[in-house]
Amino acid sequence: MTDSVTGPGDGTRAVRAGLPEPVKHEPTLPGPVFAAHFHLPGDPTGAYTYGRDENPTWTHLERAIGELEAPGRDGVETLVFASGMAAISAVLFSQLRAGDTVVLPDDGYQVLPLVRAQLEAYGVEVRTAPTGGDAQLELLDGAKLLWIETPSNPGLDVCDVRRLVEAAHSRGCLVAVDNTLATPLGQRPLELGADFSVASGTKQLTGHGDILLGYVTGADPSAMAPVRRWRKIVGAIPGPMEAWLAHRSLATLQLRVERQNASALIVAEALRDWHEDLGVRYPGLPGDPSHKLASQQMRRFGCVVSFTLPTRERAERFLDALRLVDDATSFGGVRSTAERRGRWGGDAVAEGFVRFSVGAEDPEDLVADVLRALDESAK
Ligand SMILES: *Cc1c(COP(=O)(O)O)cnc(C)c1O
Repeated sequence: MTDSVTGPGDGTRAVRAGLPEPVKHEPTLPGPVFAAHFHLPGDPTGAYTYGRDENPTWTHLERAIGELEAPGRDGVETLVFASGMAAISAVLFSQLRAGDTVVLPDDGYQVLPLVRAQLEAYGVEVRTAPTGGDAQLELLDGAKLLWIETPSNPGLDVCDVRRLVEAAHSRGCLVAVDNTLATPLGQRPLELGADFSVASGTKQLTGHGDILLGYVTGADPSAMAPVRRWRKIVGAIPGPMEAWLAHRSLATLQLRVERQNASALIVAEALRDWHEDLGVRYPGLPGDPSHKLASQQMRRFGCVVSFTLPTRERAERFLDALRLVDDATSFGGVRSTAERRGRWGGDAVAEGFVRFSVGAEDPEDLVADVLRALDESAK
């Protein structure tokens, strides 16, 4: 997909993202730098002093993510973290003080209720709204930060980022978007006006289910400085090996996303055409309640499909019957996973609700496996 506004296509950008200028006899992507401290005679100047503050392997990865989140835009800063939650907490806890108000989704990532309790314990007022329907608009007066997760996990609802940003900014309220599900190749929150794009790199960004990572990308240095300070204070830093593996994985991001998202649509269509009504949700499915809005602000619709089987037992039989799909949490990896989301508690979903993450297997094999498991689970 060549992008006329911003130059090279996503595949080209992904394979080259964050690479330093070539140096004779050096690798294209320099290996991980393992250092707690750096040689530092005299006054402590320059970037690399102590390993909790900066690491050259992070710098390459941060540039790479920045090039994908905000191509062609100057002054954008990215900070990598030990996990998605480390990145989310860094934004919330560095921007908010006692007496401030924040608007959170009530149907977002399952750790947000714990975050809410912690924010309230620190004297922050928390208001919540569902992701779909833009009900956040009613809650913005006096708020310091609006947090949105679109598409939401696991419900796959979508909210209008441009509209919410405009309303928030007119009230002096910052906006952060959790971009985990979309990835920067699916959605670019900063181009939609958001102040922060925050994500878990544990999911489709790195895509192999073998590392935890998070990041924050922001365009305003005065808003990013406290996020950087928070990382230093809390020390929620990724190891150099994880950062390097993440960068290596970015080279295949466009290939993985293209394949997985195309297959997700095929799986969603097969589920929609099943003889029982499974209440299939996928933002890329024409007719899905999220589709129109998603088409206006997303470039790709993600690899997660959800649907609801009539009972908990039926959902469990279905998951047991699958042969190509692991019963596991998380999503975005090259190996398909599915789970009965209600087993965790906390999400407002039916007992038979299944979150299905479509991997890089051949779509016809996946569809055959899913339809066979549906059939067997009905017996
Ligand atoms: C997984 C996830 C997170 C948390 O990321 P970790 O890397 O597990 O800490 C945050 N937001 C969303 C939408 C997620 O799916």
